[in-house]
This record gives sequence, C-alpha cells and structure tokens, in this order.
Amino acid sequence: MASDKAKKEEKAATQYSLFFIQRFKGKVLFNVPMSEYTSFRIGGNADVMAFPQDEGDLKDILSFAEAKDFPVYILGAGTNLLVRDGGIRGIVINICEGFKEISWQEETRATVGAGVKLSELLNACKEKGLSGLEFSAGIPGTVGGAVIMNAGAFGGEMKDVVEGVEVLGRKGKKGFIPAVELGFSYRKTEVPKGSVVIRAHMLFTKSTPEAVGERVKETAGKRKGTARIAYPNAGSIFKNPEGLFAGRLIEEAGFKGAVSGDAQVSEVHANYIVNTGAARAKDVLALMALIRDKVYSLKGVVLEPEIKVIGED
Ligand SMILES: Cc1cc2nc3c(=O)[nH]c(=O)nc-3n(C[C@H](O)[C@H](O)[C@H](O)COP(=O)(O)OP(=O)(O)OC[C@H]3O[C@@H](n4cnc5c(N)ncnc54)[C@H](O)[C@@H]3O)c2cc1C
Repeated sequence: MASDKAKKEEKAATQYSLFFIQRFKGKVLFNVPMSEYTSFRIGGNADVMAFPQDEGDLKDILSFAEAKDFPVYILGAGTNLLVRDGGIRGIVINICEGFKEISWQEETRATVGAGVKLSELLNACKEKGLSGLEFSAGIPGTVGGAVIMNAGAFGGEMKDVVEGVEVLGRKGKKGFIPAVELGFSYRKTEVPKGSVVIRAHMLFTKSTPEAVGERVKETAGKRKGTARIAYPNAGSIFKNPEGLFAGRLIEEAGFKGAVSGDAQVSEVHANYIVNTGAARAKDVLALMALIRDKVYSLKGVVLEPEIKVIGED
C-alpha cells in the first residue's frame, strides 16, 4: 500500500504534468539532481525543474504555482548555491534557457536578459569599448544572479552599472524597479520576495576596446590565485566582515586543508570550500559550523555566509 507521502508525490506529479503538457512551451524535468545544476556539484533532487522560454511561460508558471501553493525557487547558473541533500520540494525555475537577449539602446545603454552569462556581457562590452563591468572578469553566473547578489570584486559591484530591473512578481505581474529602490549593499539586493528578475537595464561608459581589454586582463591577473582552485566550489563561503578578510581569519584559525567527508577547506584560499569527490551538503555545512564557532571563539567575529543554502536536509 502506497504511503501518504508517495500518494502526495504522485498527485503533485500529475498536477504538474497536466499543467506543463497543456500550457508550457519550455522544457520540464522531474526529480532533477541539483548537483548537475550547481557549480559545487552538490545537492539532492528537485521535484520539478522548468525552463521558461519567455515572459509568457514565466508568467504562467508563477500564477500556476501560486494557485496550487507550490513553492518556487529561482535558479541562475547555480554558482552561489549550496543545495541540501534532501533536495527541493516544489518548482525550480531555471532562468538560463530563456531571457538571453542583449538589446543595445543608444551607445552606452543595454537591456540585458537575466539568463545572459556575465562573461558574455563582458565580452560584448569589450568589443564595443564600453567600461563598467571589468570588475566581473572571472565571476561565473548569470546577470540575474549577479544583480540579486550584487556580485562584485576589486572595488566594483553590479550596483555601479545597473539602472533598474524588470521583474515578474506575484501572479506574474510585471514591474520595473529603479536602482535607488533596489537597496544594493554588500552582496545583497532587496528585490521584493517572490519577484523574478527578467531583465536588467544597464549603463556603461564610453571607452575603447583596447582599454577595456587591458582592465579585464588586470582583473584576471588579480584572480590568478583562486583561479588555480581545480575542484568544484561556489566561490567565497563567507562574507568579509567589515575591515577584515574572511579567508585570513579562517586560515589563522587553522582550517586550511581541513576536511569533512569529501568537502575540504581549499589549500589555495581558506574562504573556499571545495568538493573533492562526492561531498554532501552536510559535509560542507559541518565545516562551516566548525569554522564559525572557532573564528568566533578566537577572534570574537561572527562570519556570515555569502553562499545561499537552500532545500531540505
Ligand atoms: C569560482 C567562483 C568565483 C566567484 N567569484 C565571485 C566574486 O568574485 N564576486 C562575487 O560577488 N561572487 C562570486 N562568485 C559567486 C557567484 O558567481 C555570484 O554570486 C553570481 O553572481 C551568482 O550568479 P548565478 O547566476 O550563478 O546565481 P545562482 O547561484 O543561481 O543564484 C544566486 C541567488 O540569486 C537568485 N536568483 C538568480 N537568478 C535570479 C533571477 N533572475 N531573479 C530572481 N532571483 C534570482 C537565486 O534564487 C539565489 O538566491 C563566485 C563563484 C564561483 C564558483
């Protein structure tokens, strides 16, 4: 006899299937290993992953999820995520296959789809001789994810080049949020809960392809250290506390090379945890807890995670 849980899952799958067969243009996958969609290569299965092709698809799926009370999670390139081992209940909306257009207005303005890779946008800027995004050389991920995280490096941040974002909110309602209302701060943006960034309006400054190329090279040079990290990871694990470097605090607390299962504090940079084989989220979380406790007891500093931790244990 099927358990209540199994019955519920079957019912949910039927509801999802009916919806997707009838209306959805994009691809839909069921019971998807999140390890295949995160740079950490870690994470249990998501019930459903849907790849909206356009605004219509996204609007439909948001309305559907709201009507059925299904949780929704928005996924970019998964380069800032740790998904727990029990996976994700509900619908993961993968933005990476739609929303890939860059449309240029005037010489220095662009409307950029949330699914465009930052590196792709940087290349387009380089070709056009537009400055502003050079700081992002070497940051993986999508424009949507970068806006939400206010991604940055070496003194530059997304907030410097974003004029505002187009979003689809509750019930698929469309809106525009200007930069002043986005509450940009260190690795944080305040987009209303449940809103999906679909496009960013961006402003660059006129330069030359050569000068932009030079600055990109400089940035790449500064990243040489962490670029040597060969194992899957999600970038910096903790935010830098004001005036301090998380990596240095972790190294001074003696964690470089520390392991839990197949998760290891990188030998190259102590603020990176790497997956040396088949690490589980619980291994990474165990290291994070040990690091937080010891750094706090030694230095009196509370380390705050930079990565987003999602899903069920
Ligand atoms: C090797 C490496 C180096 C890195 N270096 C840096 C660095 O120097 N500086 C830095 O800031 N980061 C760095 N990162 C972290 C990461 O690349 C950035 O945070 C990146 O901007 C995340 O983009 P993403 O598309 O992968 O987002 P995801 O990881 O998929 O998502 C991140 C968050 O954004 C939300 N989100 C994504 N897209 C949307 C959308 N369209 N609408 C609403 N919400 C959305 C997700 O729900 C999640 O909460 C690094 C990561 C790696 C692996």
